Amino acid sequence: MKAEIIAIGTELITGQALDTNSAWLSQRLGEIGIPVGWHTTVADDLHDNIAAFRVAAERAAVVLATGGLGPTQDDLTREALARLAGVELVLHAESLAHIQEMFAQRNRPMPERNRVQALFPAGAEPIPNRCGTAPGIWLRVGSCHIAALPGVPSEMMVMFDEQIKPRLLQLGLAGGVRLQRKLNCFGSGESHIEEKLLDLTRRGHVPEVGITVSDATISLRIIAQAPSRAEALAQIEPVERTIRDRLGDLVFGVEDEDLHDVVVRLLREQGKTLATAESVTTGQVAERIGRVPGASECFLGGIVAYSNAAKQALLGVPAELLAAHGAVSGPVAEAMAVGCRARFGSDLAVSTTGIAGPGGATPTKPVGLVWVGLAWEGGVSSQSFSWTGTRGEIQNRTAKLALNRVRLHLLRPPGAAHAT
Ligand code: AMP
Ligand code: MG
Repeated sequence: MKAEIIAIGTELITGQALDTNSAWLSQRLGEIGIPVGWHTTVADDLHDNIAAFRVAAERAAVVLATGGLGPTQDDLTREALARLAGVELVLHAESLAHIQEMFAQRNRPMPERNRVQALFPAGAEPIPNRCGTAPGIWLRVGSCHIAALPGVPSEMMVMFDEQIKPRLLQLGLAGGVRLQRKLNCFGSGESHIEEKLLDLTRRGHVPEVGITVSDATISLRIIAQAPSRAEALAQIEPVERTIRDRLGDLVFGVEDEDLHDVVVRLLREQGKTLATAESVTTGQVAERIGRVPGASECFLGGIVAYSNAAKQALLGVPAELLAAHGAVSGPVAEAMAVGCRARFGSDLAVSTTGIAGPGGATPTKPVGLVWVGLAWEGGVSSQSFSWTGTRGEIQNRTAKLALNRVRLHLLRPPGAAHAT
């Protein structure tokens, strides 16, 4: 038993607008245990619409379509459904009255064309739309239940939640619950992480474990489908424990938690303060920390020192060090962190320096080479990394690398050996 979603609109096919309705509907169906087997996108073309509905009605138990219910000539959904079912379009007086009422409320005469929104394939059930003029359509073709919803996302959402979801539940099509647990990781590559989890990420594993990467943050999704919430949780918990055991502190957070959230939480828990000295990331580390409520308790401030002169003047990096090693080097990253910590009087200071590109590479220092420094009471260390990617990606990922450096320092007991 699977559902299919059909997004109708030439603007979606041409790439002028993004089909967000399908993603939203898939999530909502997933929550009530109805798996989605297909997303189909089709232009405002009668022939293509009929064909898409025909294919969907044959393979899916439920079809949810959005778009094409407006009053204009390119809105063809009601006609396509009538042709598919082999019936005429008939006027539904109550829907017409509702449409006239919507116009009356706005003190505007109803254009003649809006009458078509009160036409339904004979035998179909009109679905009221309390947010707009276009009613939805509910009908059965063969053994398939079809719902046609408006394209406007806000109208579509209300109609699904208030009208369609209860119908699906009543029909017994919903199959328990689908729960998802997201574990966020940083500090290793996607394939490296998957190597440690191959038995869990293989196809057919229950619960399903998926892996996605976004700007060097790797997310593992544990997805359980079960008759009850308790059973779904019972599937997820042992797998989450196994993943955490194997990945250790590569896992930094769950769900929407980001590195900066974790850093601020750890700093506040430990009563420690942080300051930042940024070159290649031009303030991104500070900006991320500033997003977190409560940052004022632990974040003292940051210095963006882009030029060599600024690194000397604002952070006290010695000119000889810059001359000997270059700005993109471990010694300079460490001097930046030490200078920053001294100026702010913070417990910790983190620094970034690197080559974001596209220019600026040398034979020994390629684009993407970055150094992150960390200074704490009684110590300093630095770490390099070589990224590939665009300028924006390199900066973004380096900001995360710096935050992760702070996180790992806070997780490991003070005085413990630090990897450099
Ligand atoms: P329609 O019902 O086809 O007249 O669509 C009305 C409006 O809803 C369109 O102009 C789009 O802005 C929006 N829309 C239609 N389909 C989608 C979709 N799949 N995802 C997001 N927005 C959509
Ligand atoms: Mg349209």
